[in-house]
Amino acid sequence: MASFDVIVVGLGGIGSATAYYLARQGQRVLGLDMYQPGHTFGSSHGHHRIIREAYFEDPNYVPFVQRAYTLWEELEADTGQDDLLTITGGLMFGRRDSDVVSGALTSGRLHGLPYEEFSTRETSRQFPGFQLAEDMVAVYEPRSGFVAPELAIAAQSQRAAELGAELQYGVEVTGWTSAAAGVTVTTADGTTHSAGALVVTTGPWAAELLADLQIPLEVWRIVNSYFEPLEPQHYAVGNCPIYLFDAPEGTFYGFPHLDGVGLKIGRHDSGAVTTAREIDRRVDPAEETYLLDVLGKYLPGAAGTVLQSITCMYTMTPDEHFVIDRHPEHANVVLGCGFSGHGYKFAPAIGEALGELATGNAPSQPIAFLGLDRFG
Ligand SMILES: Cc1cc2nc3c(=O)[nH]c(=O)nc-3n(C[C@H](O)[C@H](O)[C@H](O)COP(=O)(O)OP(=O)(O)OC[C@H]3O[C@@H](n4cnc5c(N)ncnc54)[C@H](O)[C@@H]3O)c2cc1C
Repeated sequence: MASFDVIVVGLGGIGSATAYYLARQGQRVLGLDMYQPGHTFGSSHGHHRIIREAYFEDPNYVPFVQRAYTLWEELEADTGQDDLLTITGGLMFGRRDSDVVSGALTSGRLHGLPYEEFSTRETSRQFPGFQLAEDMVAVYEPRSGFVAPELAIAAQSQRAAELGAELQYGVEVTGWTSAAAGVTVTTADGTTHSAGALVVTTGPWAAELLADLQIPLEVWRIVNSYFEPLEPQHYAVGNCPIYLFDAPEGTFYGFPHLDGVGLKIGRHDSGAVTTAREIDRRVDPAEETYLLDVLGKYLPGAAGTVLQSITCMYTMTPDEHFVIDRHPEHANVVLGCGFSGHGYKFAPAIGEALGELATGNAPSQPIAFLGLDRFG
């Protein structure tokens, strides 16, 4: 008899959410992660992640992100922590035909979401910290904001453990097998663990344990820099929304200024191709200067001194949509990967969906468009 109902491999942003939702359902969960809690080697560190509802990437994500909002609020209520989700409003800007603007408008209209459209001048009037180019427009979405990944991972892991999940850290899983009776994972020291089902949520390492599926994943090295604004009053929460913009220089995103943290910005649409084992974690001063120049153009009062810079990884699929599915040959193996730089906001909803799949249920959210079959 299997000792656990479900083994979750990888307890980062998505795996910790999965362990939590499975434990809430009374499942006997074993969670394994090769690093210690709070590590910064994966894709879920760096203070904040944007959450937004008028989803420019595809309107199909809207019901899923709405479920995530509900679950973030439930997590705050369950843990008594009110700092996991912060609503700031969100400003998506660029030319009207840019992906960010036209996609946000499409989702907003299709799903009847609240939003406003601002001209360049109106944007500066509403938010004096922003200076859009003359040919740009902005879509303002009041429900956008950010979630706090480090705090949420800690909260979900703690609650999962309180609900009976066994979470082990510093344990690398090197392989798995599946049979009708259940799954077995092997760890780097040769230990084996058995369970009824396996969930693989290994982020930028996903290609390793899922090699047999040959999912076309590409890992990008992403740099985020934190700045001390020159005019902090324009960039404080309350005066400054989260922002995402398509500019001739590329697509960028950023956050308001937080005391003791700074104002963070990063480039969204490109990164050096790497692997989770080989990534260069040093940041070249030229990478910071590049982000400073972009800030200087569109958020000029934010372009002060660099406080720190970090590297992180996007795990890209060719169509930049997630992969949430069962293994096609092993119904008791479930995977969540390829979050393509926009997955964290969905973490509780993805955790719920992976939990549903791992317990033999159909996903309660409309996520068929995220299945493996699209890769042929
Ligand atoms: C700079 C940056 C900015 C982003 N901004 C946003 C944003 O604003 N909004 C948004 O929604 N999303 C954003 N994302 C994307 C989002 O953060 C990721 O999609 C999400 O964090 C991925 O979580 P994960 O659990 O898949 O990966 P991770 O959090 O990296 O977790 C994977 C875990 O698996 C473990 N692991 C791997 N292999 C093994 C193994 N063999 N055995 C045991 N353990 C293993 C690792 O140690 C790690 O803890 C951003 C990403 C980056 C990098």
